[in-house]
Amino acid sequence: MIIVLLGPPGTGKGTQAAAIKERFSLPHISTGDIFRKNLADGTPLGLEAKGFMERGELVPDKLVLELVEDRLKNPDTEKGFLLDGFPRTEVQATQLDKALSSQGTGIDHVVLLLVPDEVIVGRLSGRRVCKSCGHVWHMDFNPPPAGGTCPDCGGEVYQRADDMAEAIENRLLVYKKETGPLISYYEAKGLIRQIDGNQSPQLVQEAIFKALG
Ligand code: ADP
Ligand code: ADP
Ligand code: ZN
Repeated sequence: MIIVLLGPPGTGKGTQAAAIKERFSLPHISTGDIFRKNLADGTPLGLEAKGFMERGELVPDKLVLELVEDRLKNPDTEKGFLLDGFPRTEVQATQLDKALSSQGTGIDHVVLLLVPDEVIVGRLSGRRVCKSCGHVWHMDFNPPPAGGTCPDCGGEVYQRADDMAEAIENRLLVYKKETGPLISYYEAKGLIRQIDGNQSPQLVQEAIFKALG
């Protein structure tokens, strides 16, 4: 099964990806996590992406597509995969479709998570993540353990530079302009499963599982 998680930043894609991944035994491919890992490791890819990410802009399509094509060559994707944060532009979406159809496959479901903008701002500004494994917490709703160390992997729990107020606003604008059009793109293909993300993580999870059948 091939699933795409779509929706503005902060709507809970990463949080729900952890549950979907378990339930359907799919590898979770988050382009944001891959870029952050490269950034932490100081790779050339990470350095190229750094400025765009910190400003809340999109990394150029060419870089993103190279990264994803490479990741999809990994044999763990043979039985399907879960994409989180990709595609984010029409170019990325059409290239993905081309690559999948050339292998005789295609996307099964696009899970669209929606939350009002004012809720998104609160979620992003309170978000804390593990630098190594990407585990996500929230200062009010699901606080990270004291001491700043991830209980899963021992990594450092930190606040992303793009979760500061100025970058958040820009990311919402970028989403509306660049990624918003993908909703009608996938709607025309009958793939959109729209989910109300403005409820408890447990209820969001149940709604997603129901939609995926
Ligand atoms: P995305 O991957 O879409 O950017 P995340 O899963 O990282 O979103 O969630 C953004 C923030 O909101 C995190 O701090 C997370 O803990 C919190 N969060 C996620 N889902 C919910 C929810 N249903 N209710 C309240 N807070 C949530
Ligand atoms: P969030 O879901 O919180 O917005 P992500 O972790 O998915 O954030 O992405 C963080 C940043 O990484 C984005 O703001 C962007 O700079 C870059 N990025 C991730 N995925 C893509 C993509 N598919 N296309 C372009 N840039 C991307
Ligand atoms: Zn961790």
